[in-house]
Amino acid sequence: MTVLEARERVGGRVWSEELPGGGLIERGGEFITGGYDATEETAARLGIRLEGMGINYPHRELRPGPGPAASDLLAGAEAAAAASASAGARARASAFLSEAISDAEVRDVLATRLQSALAHPFDALDARFLVHLPYLVAAAETKRIAGGNQSLAEALAARLAEPVRFAAPVREIRHDSRSVRISGDDFNLDADACVVAIPIALLTELRFDPPLPEAQTKAIAAIPTSRAAKLAVPMRDAVEPQALMSRSGRFWAWTTPCDGVGGRVANAWAGAEPVLADLGVDAGPGGWLAKLAELWPELDLERGRAVLTDWRADPWARGAYSVLPDVEDPDGTAAAASPAPGIAFAGEHTAVPEWTGTMEGALRSGFRAAEELLAAS
Ligand SMILES: Cc1cc2nc3c(=O)[nH]c(=O)nc-3n(C[C@H](O)[C@H](O)[C@H](O)COP(=O)(O)OP(=O)(O)OC[C@H]3O[C@@H](n4cnc5c(N)ncnc54)[C@H](O)[C@@H]3O)c2cc1C
Repeated sequence: MTVLEARERVGGRVWSEELPGGGLIERGGEFITGGYDATEETAARLGIRLEGMGINYPHRELRPGPGPAASDLLAGAEAAAAASASAGARARASAFLSEAISDAEVRDVLATRLQSALAHPFDALDARFLVHLPYLVAAAETKRIAGGNQSLAEALAARLAEPVRFAAPVREIRHDSRSVRISGDDFNLDADACVVAIPIALLTELRFDPPLPEAQTKAIAAIPTSRAAKLAVPMRDAVEPQALMSRSGRFWAWTTPCDGVGGRVANAWAGAEPVLADLGVDAGPGGWLAKLAELWPELDLERGRAVLTDWRADPWARGAYSVLPDVEDPDGTAAAASPAPGIAFAGEHTAVPEWTGTMEGALRSGFRAAEELLAAS
């Protein structure tokens, strides 16, 4: 088996980095929460340990507070999710939320939470997405992989008989009923079958010969990629694990002892274009650092060591993750279907409908794609 990777490392949107001077940060996928069975099982199989982050992903102190009680948020989330269960993809999330929840503050917090998690403007979301709300506010143990989430991909890569070929972007896949030919700038590789696991934003540029069915090409092109950025800032003093959400800035921040330096890195997440624009992310970390200091004045931030990661600028991701479109292919299956006997699609965008946009979804999709090809052979 040959793995062709465009970057110089494995892990893709999971990118763990040791900061000069100390501090282990996750520049991409970070939180492992409830139901991450494939992640837990794969880690156990590889002898990799998961550790508690000391925070609960769904629980964030709203500032300025106090904000709605956790029980009111959960009740509102469940009501909205139930109301949306029968909604078609064309119904707006905002309309359903207004109908299901009378308390304006609960509504506002839930809308902000959903927008943040999906990294896509709330107004652009249809009612199907409300089904995620209870998960976003119910208690859930939250973990990271000891030594960094990327070590899972590294351990998988280390078990391959043939080393991963880095800096090898695939440009074209030719296929017939018996084999596939995979080509890059300076290589051609013939194989019985292949799993295509590149981000949805890049899939539109991969040439297929013969081309993908027209309906599938359209379905793939219709899936938007969300936008998210993360900020990591080392601190002079260690702090207890805690999570805060900015009411006005609509970003959140947390600390965890999993940072390799006992809780001396402040981490922050901003999801959705308008939130990143308010923080001035395009101009660098300055605007966000000022707002983080305002949100959490207790932290002694080493601003000069801040690390900003904007995934829109990453050429091999072009954004955070997929957002299922509200028309044509509302359950995402047309985009994810195998287009020919020797080709299977994998990646978070194919983990429809439940696990898109997650590390767990990416792993599950890989197992599913491998099973599909093995069954076909
Ligand atoms: C900022 C951020 C925070 C996140 N936080 C969480 C979280 O807390 N919990 C969670 O579960 N999920 C989180 N996610 C989502 C999660 O990281 C992704 O869903 C998951 O990692 C995607 O995996 P993938 O294999 O589908 O894609 P990727 O990890 O992007 O892997 C695709 C690989 O294909 C390579 N590639 C691209 N084009 C080519 C080409 N032409 N030829 C060869 N190789 C190519 C890329 O370099 C990459 O290595 C987060 C994502 C981001 C961006």
